[in-house]
Amino acid sequence: MPDRSLDEFATRKLQALERRELRRSLASTEKVDGRRVRSQGRDLLSFASNDYLGLSHRLEVVEASLAATRRYGTGAGASRLITGNHPLYGALEARLATLKDTDDAVVFGSGYLTNVGVIPLLAGEADLIVMDEFCHSCLLGGATLSGAKVVHFNHNDPAAAAAVLTAERSRHRHCLLLTEGVFSMEGDLAPLPELGELAGRFDAWLMTDDAHGLGVVGAGRGSSFAFDEPVAVPLQMGTLSKAAGGYGGYICASHAVCELIRNRARSFGFSTGLPPGTVAAAATALAIISTENDLVGRPVARARSFTAALGLQPAQSAIVPLVLGPAARAVEAGSALREAGFLVAAIRPPTVPAGTSRLRFAFSAEHAERDVRELARAVRPILDGK
Ligand SMILES: *Cc1c(COP(=O)(O)O)cnc(C)c1O
Repeated sequence: MPDRSLDEFATRKLQALERRELRRSLASTEKVDGRRVRSQGRDLLSFASNDYLGLSHRLEVVEASLAATRRYGTGAGASRLITGNHPLYGALEARLATLKDTDDAVVFGSGYLTNVGVIPLLAGEADLIVMDEFCHSCLLGGATLSGAKVVHFNHNDPAAAAAVLTAERSRHRHCLLLTEGVFSMEGDLAPLPELGELAGRFDAWLMTDDAHGLGVVGAGRGSSFAFDEPVAVPLQMGTLSKAAGGYGGYICASHAVCELIRNRARSFGFSTGLPPGTVAAAATALAIISTENDLVGRPVARARSFTAALGLQPAQSAIVPLVLGPAARAVEAGSALREAGFLVAAIRPPTVPAGTSRLRFAFSAEHAERDVRELARAVRPILDGK
């Protein structure tokens, strides 16, 4: 039985989104192979996926998932703290810890669940969270849930972070310093050596969200390893849903921190464990990431070919944004590329700040150089019209 005032509320909200060109709709999208998708009756060359290494359909990964599903079933059946901790988890967490050079790692249901579980566990009302203004929605969600004082600093500006810490740090018990390792909508790397130094100087705990770093930068080990010297980051969070090609979130940290998380993070304890097939797929994907250097180097190489072809700043990751401003312009440019046979994400608020709507190009190891040249040719008129 529909409730009239409830439906009116929803309809009004949707109309307001439409007026601002912000209403979204779900397009059914079918993967044809690593590069192509079928969407709304058309085959398109996709530059809109986070499956940077094509591991979601790599044979060994799929086989590992099938074998685990046959053996252990399709679901974990309970939280990991009850009976959902099937035997494949240990191997996956050990692999993550080795890759990130930490004592231990904890796997969650998703990256989102990791951030909304870990951040409120480590910071509370007496504490301070200092975070980059462009941090992902789930970092902000975790920070808001924590009840800590949250202060943003200008994107990738360590001097701005230092100013916040100078003004605020002494009034709070603990301090978390949050950043993405590779920014999901900018494609740039965080200045981790400088942020690491600040964390030491101000007694803050540095946490990186490396959703777009794992498998792509730092020889696949992520942003902590993308600089001349590895940066000591005590809390390295990420997802198994992007370059690892599957699903799940993780945090790599010391044994004590991981044990606290297993005991007390709510989104860990009060949510069902991942399906066994998903855990097995992730472990196999990480084994590939740890050993196949050529594969891991390819997404950034393709992104750099694209930026070079268009005379843009050299790509630092697999992500290249082209900021167009108004939401309507980004949507129009996305449609023009679709007409030309390319699928590219048009990103609008609230994902990015108002007035900075953009096209977001994501490159994959599966793209050929020729794909990139063809894309660059189609993007040229958009760039010239800017
Ligand atoms: C995708 C993403 C997440 C969420 O990860 P899921 O595993 O998909 O929930 C978190 N942080 C950033 C920066 C992301 O891009």
